[in-house]
Amino acid sequence: MILATPGPVEIPLFVRETFLGETIHHRTPEFKAILLETLERFKNITHLPFNVFLSSSGTGAMEAAVINTVKNKALTVNAGKFGERWGKICEAHGIEYKEIKYDWDTPAQIDDIIAAIKEDSSIDTLFIQISESAGGLRHPVEEIAAEVKLINEDIIIVADGITALGVEDIDTANIDIVIGGSQKAFMLPPGLAMLGISEAGFKRIGKGKGFYFNLANEIKKQSEGSTAFTPATSHIIALNEVLKKLEEIGLENHYKNTAKRHDALIHAIEELGLSIFPQNPALSMAAVYFEKAEELRKILKKYEVNVAGGQDHMKGKLFRINNMGIIEDYKMAHIINAVELALDELGVRKYDGSGVKIYTAEKIKV
Ligand SMILES: *Cc1c(COP(=O)(O)O)cnc(C)c1O
Repeated sequence: MILATPGPVEIPLFVRETFLGETIHHRTPEFKAILLETLERFKNITHLPFNVFLSSSGTGAMEAAVINTVKNKALTVNAGKFGERWGKICEAHGIEYKEIKYDWDTPAQIDDIIAAIKEDSSIDTLFIQISESAGGLRHPVEEIAAEVKLINEDIIIVADGITALGVEDIDTANIDIVIGGSQKAFMLPPGLAMLGISEAGFKRIGKGKGFYFNLANEIKKQSEGSTAFTPATSHIIALNEVLKKLEEIGLENHYKNTAKRHDALIHAIEELGLSIFPQNPALSMAAVYFEKAEELRKILKKYEVNVAGGQDHMKGKLFRINNMGIIEDYKMAHIINAVELALDELGVRKYDGSGVKIYTAEKIKV
């Protein structure tokens, strides 16, 4: 079965193989060297000076970011399940927050965010997704961050880049914390979260908050090649190999290939008469609006293809095809062909091979 969900993604063989080695104790020069090397490599992904890994899924890093940064009040952007999560984390910790809500297909508007911070001077931290996975939506985070910093450079900007880091080169010039997750573009099993932190972010964190998720502790320890607690050693060793592979390909080439594959995928989907759901699609996936999404997903399983559905009110109305990681063209072509075959079976459109034809013409031939 091809795992074509936008997280977890398929794990390439070279990554799985790294898990076969003997367990290394984490308090050894051997692991220390690997940790420092991996953190250094990860800097090329975040372009931020402080980088730390946490043994948790992505949400753990979101929680760490929330508890370690907010002083008075948070501003959260909610255009989907993951944006909604910022508010839930704030509530769980009794942190005051204001939420700006959008439909799941609608990117955040700079003016709304500027108005909110002008209206309420107690807001000191902004939380937003770069790619909101619920609707496959890309927020204009870089532009928002630049505008916010122009108005008040003390506002800390936290960007959930869990389906953006490793997908595209993120300009973090005005971003203070960017978050990544192992099971998305980094092609690892779930269980590792990563954070890149700016100088201003580091200052805001100060002595840190929380116990397991105290970022000040982790930054201090990890900068010395150690960790506060037992780290996910196998995941870190595997991440190092993934980053090496991406360097081998060339990060720029990897990003270009991802963008090109996205273009070809979107065009193929549209050629089949389907529509892309978000107004501003993220490169991490194709989120397709389709009223018979659940029937289609069931048929896709016959062709050994597992795509994600919609969540909450979009359940049954969306299907989402992953575009993160290293995806071979023959696999993406098979996924698109399976979608086309399923549309025929559902009586939506007669099969004529258009999907693969477009994908091949745009992605493979040229
Ligand atoms: C997957 C994902 C997360 C984190 O989810 P976990 O299940 O905790 O790994 C957070 N934000 C976005 C945008 C995601 O896609």
